Amino acid sequence: MARRQSAPRLEFEAAAIYEYPEHLRPSLEALPSLPGVYTFHGDSDTLPLYIGKSINLRSRILSHLRTPDEAAMLRQSRRISWVRTAGEVGALLLEAKLIKEQQPLFNKRLRRNRQLCSLLLNGAQPQVVYAKEIDFAHQPGLYGLFANRRAALQALQTIADEHQLCYGLLGLEAVTRGRGCFRSALKRCAGACCGKESEEAHHQRLLAALAKLQLNCWPWHGPIAMKEDAVDMTEYHIIHNWLWLGSVTSLSAAEALRRLPAGFDHDGYKILCKPLLTGQAEIIDLTDPR
Ligand SMILES: [Zn+2]
Repeated sequence: MARRQSAPRLEFEAAAIYEYPEHLRPSLEALPSLPGVYTFHGDSDTLPLYIGKSINLRSRILSHLRTPDEAAMLRQSRRISWVRTAGEVGALLLEAKLIKEQQPLFNKRLRRNRQLCSLLLNGAQPQVVYAKEIDFAHQPGLYGLFANRRAALQALQTIADEHQLCYGLLGLEAVTRGRGCFRSALKRCAGACCGKESEEAHHQRLLAALAKLQLNCWPWHGPIAMKEDAVDMTEYHIIHNWLWLGSVTSLSAAEALRRLPAGFDHDGYKILCKPLLTGQAEIIDLTDPR
């Protein structure tokens, strides 16, 4: 599509609209060049074909012609609908929620994950712990989010391989105390199991290797509102324990939302960590005054 990127925008628009399946062109007319979430609907009223988000609904939807898969999806589409959001964060939150609820045919499957787990480091050995058992929003010493126990152990093993850590000390395999593990003979373990390095040095290397995976505890006492502005609207995203509770256009409407129960949420964590922790967004603490 490089051919078109250099062409003036109106020319691109005209060409894109011309190439669009004719029955969908009426859906394009009122499309704003602003952030939001859009849905391609097929024959079914309940099962959408595709849900996406963009900071520019118009140009994103017009560019949905670029691959054979997208062309196939467009041919099955009967209409396009969209919801405006004030900004990118609101669009990401709404997109994740709608995809999870509606499971569109052409989106990658996102299912509620009941096996969500992490690695908890309290002592020398990381333990696999589950979000359904431990409050991931407040437990310190958690590293990584994994779809299941196998994925968590696989990640730990990869770290061990990259940093010559000992499978025995990490609890990944049984070793006889005082005897070097099999990998130490191959120099794949630096030898904390057989006195070639101290257990303390091994632990420090483990901590350093895990550091980039460390989960951030929810840093506020209660719910917060994150403000997001567009030229024509303002939204407050109400968030607690990394869970998005909903968005409102004025803080006075936040009261019902901020009282909802809020457990840790994987999608919310992924989407919100950066905007909330980098200090770029305006944040209003909604904790009850004590
Ligand atoms: Zn070893």
